[in-house]
Amino acid sequence: MRITNLNPDSGIGASSWLVETDGHGLLLDAGTHPKREGRDSLPLYGLAKNKDVDSVVITHCHHDHVGSLPVALRQFPKAHVLMPELSYFIVERVLHNSVNVMTRQREELGIREYPLYTHDEVDEIAPLFQGFKYNRQIEWAAFHKTRAGHISPTLEFFDAGHTLGSAGVLVRGKKESLFYTGDVCFHDQTILRSARFEGVRADVLIMETTRGGRGVPAGFSREKEIERLSACLQRVIQRKGSVLIPSFALGRTQEILALLALLMREGKLKPQPVYIGGLGRVFTEIYDLESHRAHRQHPNLQLNEALNLVVLDPKKAEKMKLSGAHIFVLTAGMMSEKTAAHDMALRMMGDPRHAIFFVGYTDPETPGGRLRAAKDGDTFVFSATGGEATRKCEIQEFDLTAHANREELLDFVGRVEPRTVLLGHGEAEARQWFAEQIHARHPKIKVVQPEPGKTVEV
Ligand SMILES: [Zn+2]
Ligand SMILES: [Zn+2]
Repeated sequence: MRITNLNPDSGIGASSWLVETDGHGLLLDAGTHPKREGRDSLPLYGLAKNKDVDSVVITHCHHDHVGSLPVALRQFPKAHVLMPELSYFIVERVLHNSVNVMTRQREELGIREYPLYTHDEVDEIAPLFQGFKYNRQIEWAAFHKTRAGHISPTLEFFDAGHTLGSAGVLVRGKKESLFYTGDVCFHDQTILRSARFEGVRADVLIMETTRGGRGVPAGFSREKEIERLSACLQRVIQRKGSVLIPSFALGRTQEILALLALLMREGKLKPQPVYIGGLGRVFTEIYDLESHRAHRQHPNLQLNEALNLVVLDPKKAEKMKLSGAHIFVLTAGMMSEKTAAHDMALRMMGDPRHAIFFVGYTDPETPGGRLRAAKDGDTFVFSATGGEATRKCEIQEFDLTAHANREELLDFVGRVEPRTVLLGHGEAEARQWFAEQIHARHPKIKVVQPEPGKTVEV
């Protein structure tokens, strides 16, 4: 089995792995890099130019896993695109939204390479998409290559508990098997239940390492973190301040909305409108629609009914009075430029009555990361378009991660019993922690950290 890391960066970057086994080719994920712009944000597809890729697998609909799918398919026009059924309902919305964002960035930031693909192209490739239920064997090799009497390789999706429609993928070849975790969460979130990776065994494991750089502090619990969030919300609202919770539109937004709905139901938060973005609303409706098909808690909790959700019109947002103690759950999670969260943060951060709550990962080199690092009263460069700003608002961080803690992932390695582990989707420090721990606990397992563009024979 040959595996090539197509991520152009050594950090989380743009997920994409090329797997060659038994004369077949499989591309695992086709992401874009959240921090890079234009063609630099793409995986290194040029390295797979002469490869015959039978199928492209998408583990979930976050941009770092799916954002460059139309570009990948230019390279592999005959490939089928396989994904979990629940992602199938989401993927076209995500790609069309990407076209809109890239088009806006072309105009407003002058990135001439954008958009990297068009609405027409998304519509043209959509018939190639196929959605599958979890825990079914799927033949993924091109039909013309599989002959009668030969065993064709299969794959199987396992619920990863990270976002709606997220999966780990087990690839079974003639002699060898491979498991790719995608992004995985081994604890229950407010809506989604934890990953169901029970019984997974594989010769080769490709693993995400997002949380490798931080352990779980003693005494930490998600319940206590939610209690603290509830108390902070009440405090800010009482002083007539507004609260901004920057969130990804898919997954994080719905988890936060569910949390707010439960707090209101329990009487811990006064019922009031919650302002969200247009894309956040689309995915919230899909979460509601698919509530009984997903492996989740509170299946009867319909967010759209339980909350008074108001889609924030960007024009209105500019003029809206913030003294009315509003709650905003807006994209983007890292407050990248030209997003609702970026613009709202700029308006809020100079006023000590308001508060911004970070509930997910922010890269230090994004506007969100810089704001998070700023001390009270610090003047700092927020972004190129936003310029300098002074932080006077309250900043809080809550650890409500949708990624597995490192100890849980380490235990998972022990259960899979692979011969080789490939580490990806994490900073150098995070991968190093895993490399050392796996070596100490399971000295027989080979640990590889393939550099961008490097192929490993496993
Ligand atoms: Zn993700
Ligand atoms: Zn990811």
